[in-house]
Amino acid sequence: MTDSTKPETDIDIAAEVAESLRDIQERIAAAARDAGRKTEDITLVAVSKVQPVDRVRAACLAGHRVFGENRVQEAMERWTPLRREFPDIRLHLIGPLQTNKVRDAVGFFDVIESIDRPKLARKIAAEADAAGRQPACLVQVNTGEEEQKAGVLPEEADALIALCRDDLGLNLNGLMCIPPFDESPAPHFALLREIARRNALSELSMGMSGDFEEGIRFGATMVRVGTAIFGSRTKA
Ligand SMILES: *Cc1c(COP(=O)(O)O)cnc(C)c1O
Repeated sequence: MTDSTKPETDIDIAAEVAESLRDIQERIAAAARDAGRKTEDITLVAVSKVQPVDRVRAACLAGHRVFGENRVQEAMERWTPLRREFPDIRLHLIGPLQTNKVRDAVGFFDVIESIDRPKLARKIAAEADAAGRQPACLVQVNTGEEEQKAGVLPEEADALIALCRDDLGLNLNGLMCIPPFDESPAPHFALLREIARRNALSELSMGMSGDFEEGIRFGATMVRVGTAIFGSRTKA
């Protein structure tokens, strides 16, 4: 449809992003139907990290309101002006969080999906108390037990959940995982669901562009979709 010899106009970009969003919402609805679930129980977190701001703004103009970012500083730079324009935006932090960024993260994000160690949980609790602001929190589980990947190990998850919820009083309501790239995600989604079940946690953030329908089959209440909405992140 777009003529590749011409640079894209704002209108092309807006139409493209709006169409991708509609397409993903339809696929979410279909996957929910197939699983005997309600579409309203699944939140599409549009992952806007590294995407050109005109695409992100196009998604806002198309009516989308829930976004995921993986870096605190970048998110604040990008979303501070966009939030003036769209005050009801909800932002999820989905990337690893360093303790020296916790104050900013607690002040800025509505949901922190990446709690993965006691020290971080304690720091979030302290900053949340100081700020009088309690973001919703998820514990990230490293279901594939990958050395380089963030997340608490599955066998340490129950203890971290108990610390967050019972000792620190965080507003903890679910779990997040990123399965290994080279494996079927199904067993990882099943494991995350089981850890959530035995800890009576209701939110499951699992499924990305390539596997969100599978995530929904396994009970995902949040899917984090980036490239399938905005296009490849490597594209300038
Ligand atoms: C980048 C990212 C996503 C989105 O990945 P896509 O494949 O672009 O949909 C989801 N979750 C996390 C934690 C990410 O870092």
